[in-house]
Parts: sequence; structure tokens; C-alpha cells
Amino acid sequence: MSRLIRAVIDTQALRHNLSTIRARAGSARVMAVVKANAYGHGLVPTALALAGADAFGVARLEEGLALRAAGIKAPIMLLEGVFSADQLGEAARHNLELAVHDPFQIELLENFPRLKRLVLWIKIDTGMNRLGFAPTEFALALTRLRALAAHEIRLLTHLACADERTNPMTQMQLTRWREATRGLSYPTSIANSPGLFGDAQVGGDWVRPGLALYGASPFADRLASDLGLRPVMTLTTSVIAVRRVPPGERVGYGGAWVAERDSSIAIVASGYGDGLPRSFGNGTPVLVGGVRAPLAGTVSMDMIAVDVTGRTDVRVGTEAVLWGPGLPVEEMARHAGTIPYELLCSVSQRVPLEPR
Ligand SMILES: *Cc1c(COP(=O)(O)O)cnc(C)c1O
Repeated sequence: MSRLIRAVIDTQALRHNLSTIRARAGSARVMAVVKANAYGHGLVPTALALAGADAFGVARLEEGLALRAAGIKAPIMLLEGVFSADQLGEAARHNLELAVHDPFQIELLENFPRLKRLVLWIKIDTGMNRLGFAPTEFALALTRLRALAAHEIRLLTHLACADERTNPMTQMQLTRWREATRGLSYPTSIANSPGLFGDAQVGGDWVRPGLALYGASPFADRLASDLGLRPVMTLTTSVIAVRRVPPGERVGYGGAWVAERDSSIAIVASGYGDGLPRSFGNGTPVLVGGVRAPLAGTVSMDMIAVDVTGRTDVRVGTEAVLWGPGLPVEEMARHAGTIPYELLCSVSQRVPLEPR
């Protein structure tokens, strides 16, 4: 019996994507975003493979500490900063850079006795209305932070609609950004993956790619290969049974698929327990033995069924790939009505990650 589900991580592809990003970023430095377990690819091994990055970005203190515990010395930024004095102490002890996006975080800094010099990234909200100081609040935030010890100040904002290449929101945000930062000479960061690979001249001293590192495209109308990126994760498993299903019979929960002819159905060991979305419906492609075949019926917890009628090569043990080279995760995301970010982050704990 061959192996059941696992996520094979192509570290060569990771490094290739980092160099594609570098070429695209010009003179800007690259902060590799490895939050959410490196988008499902494994936090520490991914960061080790990306040792050439200028910095790492994470969402949570624990992620930053895990990178430090693994011996990573590069700068690490907490993209949402800290939320308590304890966290601030921990972050400072481990030399983590902090986003500062709320007056509450300025108070934490003001109240911390003998705080060492830190890199503070002030976040300006240019229209996403999620995190950051509104342009009208930014001057006061900057004044308060400058009044503190000699912290190193940098500025960032986040783009809301850069994945839609022609959405005027990006230009609107860039206009607000230029107005808010006019005359200031602090280092800046604006672009996430779609900001970096889109048409707008986003600029900034640092870029913050996440998805692009993992070899997926953030754009609906472009595949990763169009951007010079290679998929990093192959989610792969095996056929565990092949069934004959006569015409008129149904397959799976709810009988959602009906055989219109004498059919061969491959049962494949992967399901929502592994992180596949239940919204994968009839017809969603699966690479069985390297050839696309349509999903038949609903996703179960541990299994899916795939119509392999007419195929003589499919048997127990044949490889089945859910996404990877030849079956882009962004295409699979469209079948589930979601985005590649969500599919990658949803791969569950029980799926082993395997470097290749
Ligand atoms: C997650 C995140 C990124 C990375 O975004 P991608 O679209 O995956 O490139 C960049 N910046 C911030 C602040 C983030 O939270």
C-alpha cells in the first residue's frame, strides 16, 4: 500500500519564488510573511528554507518566539504588534519588531520602564479600515512615539483591493499614503503579494509577500506560472479502492452524484478531516495517476470519490493529487468559491508535512 495524505513541500520552489520576488522588488528589501504556519507549509522549516529573506513577518508573538527558538537571527516583525505589557516584554527580550496601530499600544510602550531600543512600524490606515491610524490620527501617534526612547521608526500600510488589478481603490490608498507621509523620511512598506505583482507602482523600501512565496497567484486572471512562481505544496494521497457503479446508482453522502453509465469510481484517502473544503462539488478536478478526473459526490471526512470511468491504469495505490504542479491551488480555490490562501491555511494538523 502506498502512502496516504501528506503535503510535500518543495524547498527549491520556495527559494526560486524568493528570488523571483527579489527580482520583482528591485532595491526593496523582502520581509517573508510566514504567519499561520507559513500558510500551512510549516513555520520553522519554511523560514529555514527562506534564510535569504531580509526579515520575517508573523501574526502572533508565539510564532516569533518559535522562530527565535529555532535559532533564526533575522529581523522578525509582529504584523499586529503586542496586546499586553507581558507580550511587550517578551517581544523586546527576543528582539521582535512591532507594528503599532492603536493608541493602546503606544500607552504600553510609554508605560514600559527602561524599554530597550525597538523597531516600531507605525501602521497608517489608508482605506482598508481594519488596522492602523487614520491619516488624521497619524501625526499625533508619530509625535508620541518620537517622544519615547530612541526607537527606530518605520511606516507601513496595507492594501485592501490589490488582488483586483484594475480596482481604483489601490490608487486611492496610494494617494492617501503619499499625503500622510509627505516630508517624512522613515523607511516604508506597502506591498503584499498582489501589490508587488500588480500593475500599480506601489513602491516602498520593504515588500511583504506571503502567498507569492508559496507559489500561488493572488489574481483571479493570472496563474502563478504567469508570474514566474512555482507551487511549493503538493497535497498528495492515494487511491484506496476502485468500485464499479452501475447506471442509476448514486455515490456518497446525500447521493449527490448519479452514475449515467457503467462507471469506475476511485475512492481517494482525503477529506474535510484533512482540510479539503466540503464545497468541492461534482466535477472538481483531481489528478489521479497524473491525469485530471472529476470528483463524484460530496467530500467525506476521510475520503472523496473520483470518476475514473474508462481508465485502466487506476488501482489501489495510484497517486491522487489534490493540488500542486499540474493542478494549481488557485484553480482549486475557485471550485470551492474561496481563495488559495484559505485552502493552504486549512490543511489540517493530521496531514504530515514532508520536505522534498
Ligand atoms: C498577511 C500579510 C501580508 C502578506 O500578504 P500576501 O497577500 O499573502 O502577500 C502582508 N502584510 C500584512 C500586514 C499581512 O497581514
